[in-house]
Amino acid sequence: MLEIQGIRVENGTKKKVYLGPDTYPMPACLIAGREEGKTLLITAQIHSGEYSGTPAVIRTGKSADPEVMKGNMILMPCVNISGFQSGYNAKIPEDNGNLNADYPSADKPVTDSISSFFINEIFPKVDFILDLHSGGISEPLTPCLFYPALSVTEESLAVAEKLDIPWLVASENRKGHFSYAAHVMNIPGLLLERGFGSLCEEEWIQAFEKDIRLAADALGILSCGRYETCKKEIIRSARYLTFEEDGLWYGDVKPGEEIVKGQVLGHTEDVFGNVLREYTAEEDGIVLYGNGGLKAAKGHSAVAYGRKAYREVMS
Ligand SMILES: [Zn+2]
Repeated sequence: MLEIQGIRVENGTKKKVYLGPDTYPMPACLIAGREEGKTLLITAQIHSGEYSGTPAVIRTGKSADPEVMKGNMILMPCVNISGFQSGYNAKIPEDNGNLNADYPSADKPVTDSISSFFINEIFPKVDFILDLHSGGISEPLTPCLFYPALSVTEESLAVAEKLDIPWLVASENRKGHFSYAAHVMNIPGLLLERGFGSLCEEEWIQAFEKDIRLAADALGILSCGRYETCKKEIIRSARYLTFEEDGLWYGDVKPGEEIVKGQVLGHTEDVFGNVLREYTAEEDGIVLYGNGGLKAAKGHSAVAYGRKAYREVMS
């Protein structure tokens, strides 16, 4: 039996409901398996505009059969629903809070009410979290995931190694949705990244559906049969280059590309075509994501790459 905010879901059944603070209801599908087992929380659109996880979570809610499940799933396809409905990019529009960086955030009341809801009502009831993201509007990326590096690392990597995502990147963040749960509350979990550009390609949706089935299988909640999955590498350290000035950006590398020390990653120019700065790789690595648009904004992400010296093939 699963019970959230007074809503009871009997074993072998599912319910489609709204959960959250009174002032911020979010859609959810609650599924209680016929047999008792672990509880998996899956969230999408923590960042509005990162779409490809949302249909994958909705489809899972429709297709999952609680009669054959051992354990529960809490599926929340659109957490930042006010951002989604207003076309706001990533953050909570009411107070500009970032649910992947502002956990908790007393100075941002709407964001804080959502993070408090997860911290008090949801996280204590779950055994594992999958949080589905994409690259931003101008942020192409190669499929990758972030795992908690400071605690519950082995439990999180035990699920990551069953998925179909090649790059497993360490995160030391403590103030995001899944990372707060991991590093402050010791609940294992993963942040998955597929797709970008506010697009919602069928290929990305299906890949996320597969990730969800593989994770649920790894946790003993359901059996998904046999799937081929890719080779994986753990990246224990990554470099995150940010722009040092405003300007126009001309990138030279693509996500998934191997780079070598000294290689030019791109350069900025002013509006008259004068070169402002060249950005080069400080060491060998693999490009994870980067700015794919023309605009360079000081302090914003230019290129992120995994450091080759900190890479390790997962056996
Ligand atoms: Zn995101």
